[in-house]
Amino acid sequence: MIDVKCLASGSAGNSYAIDDGESVLLLEAGIPAKKIMTGYLDMISRIAGCLITHEHGDHAKGAADLAAKGIDLYATAGTFEGIEGIDRPYRKHVVRVGEQLRLSSWTVLPFESEHDCNEPCGYLIYSHVTQEKLLFATDTFYIPNTFKALNYIMVECNYSLPILNESIRSGLIPEQLKGRLLRSHFSLEHVKEFLAANDMNTVRHIYLIHLSGNNSNPDQFKSEIQRVAGKPVTVF
Ligand SMILES: [Zn+2]
Ligand SMILES: [Zn+2]
Repeated sequence: MIDVKCLASGSAGNSYAIDDGESVLLLEAGIPAKKIMTGYLDMISRIAGCLITHEHGDHAKGAADLAAKGIDLYATAGTFEGIEGIDRPYRKHVVRVGEQLRLSSWTVLPFESEHDCNEPCGYLIYSHVTQEKLLFATDTFYIPNTFKALNYIMVECNYSLPILNESIRSGLIPEQLKGRLLRSHFSLEHVKEFLAANDMNTVRHIYLIHLSGNNSNPDQFKSEIQRVAGKPVTVF
């Protein structure tokens, strides 16, 4: 079993850790490094590296300090270009979409995502210990690939269109923000389409991440996804 932990999820910051019993991968560094190191204290000696999807602060603001604390970072060249202050170049490991890499007990395959930044990606992650596959996809308005035999899905569920429209109507968020959201983030409706397009047979657990404070409803999202997928769902 792959153990999934979360210290922060959403536009204020993202930090997740996955553990297959042998080694640990950090996913995103969007909170201060000190919080990451103390939050995963019991796993620290087993951390194989930190995968980052893109350079936005809520995913990367702790990256430079994390590298200074001895954690290897993995991201695309474009993502690294957008992260300032990494003064230990040997901690930077450039990944390329479609090229898999071995990282301790894991094999990681970066795949293309669609977001308003340099060179974003998602990660398909396989544990050689548990022989399970986990998908990590966030901050994308589209996932071009479909995936076979997934066991765990960690996917952004940022907003739902009816709630977003209501937030705009009530003046909670400005109308101009809608266009950006639609072209950069994954919605409840997107998650449903994505799950329908992928083989759900082997899926054990779905984790919904990066919910918007104004435009989401955690209880509703959980029950709707649970109903369409027929799998247990956790909302982070
Ligand atoms: Zn984000
Ligand atoms: Zn972003």
